Amino acid sequence: MHVAAVDLGATHLRTGIVDKKGTIKAFTQTDVSGLTSGDEIRSLICTMIGNLTEKTGISPKAIGISTAGPVDLKTGSVVGSPNMKCETIFLSGPLEERFGIPVRMMTDCKAGSLGEYHFGGAKDAATLVYLTISTGIGAGVLERGRLLCGANGNASEVGHMLVDTTWNLPCGCGGTGHWEAYASGTGIPNFFRAWSLERIECDPRPLMNAGQILYAAEQGNPLFISFCDELAKINGRGLSSIIAAYNPDLIIMDGPIARNYPALIVKKMTGYVDRYLPAPKIRISALEGKAPLLGASAAAFNAL
Ligand SMILES: [Zn+2]
Repeated sequence: MHVAAVDLGATHLRTGIVDKKGTIKAFTQTDVSGLTSGDEIRSLICTMIGNLTEKTGISPKAIGISTAGPVDLKTGSVVGSPNMKCETIFLSGPLEERFGIPVRMMTDCKAGSLGEYHFGGAKDAATLVYLTISTGIGAGVLERGRLLCGANGNASEVGHMLVDTTWNLPCGCGGTGHWEAYASGTGIPNFFRAWSLERIECDPRPLMNAGQILYAAEQGNPLFISFCDELAKINGRGLSSIIAAYNPDLIIMDGPIARNYPALIVKKMTGYVDRYLPAPKIRISALEGKAPLLGASAAAFNAL
């Protein structure tokens, strides 16, 4: 038996046909960063699932969707995501109607935590926090395998926790001082600019992206290393709040920023964590960016 799994992010849309063991039988992905209409995104999802079904000859029995948040599970939609260009994307109802099979949806971090629990290195965790540093920052929390959802499906949106009142950087959600505004893929360049303007008279490198900034630090440039220390303090505040809120025994870190720069991002931030509670184990995801897709497949199997 197989299900269709969808991972809708701010940049990429990934779909796969997955079996119960988490084997991805067929996979496809496309860039959606330029799309501004929810209808367009939904019809692209339908086309991609249809193409995979045709290619493999497999009819999925359910669909699992992992999506950038926030979501409204009552209407089965993505609503006003700060990292996506369209206002509302209705998914569950229209997809159920189109394919005639059950659809389950959840935010990408919740799906990621399920992916790690079922197919990654988190099976034995009593309380797991799956933390992703990507275009945005978010978490999924599992207590002995049971997902913390919240009233509308938006629990543990930790990227919008307050971590700073010095720079007061604006967040995509409309708030200020939120973790995501400093330390996500989109936040790091803005934070670097604000931080370096205090040290250098002219605006140094306004067009550098997160990868270029972290690469410069990795190459040993003192200005960028110093910036990464400041970034680690911000990350340490976020991580401390997560540990205080959920008391996890395991944190699995995912997202390209964490996966590609483990020493600079993950190791450095642990040096700034409060010691109020015992430190949990911290690991980098070994699922190569597929944890949300695999988690979506697990949610789809749960619907059967
Ligand atoms: Zn925010």
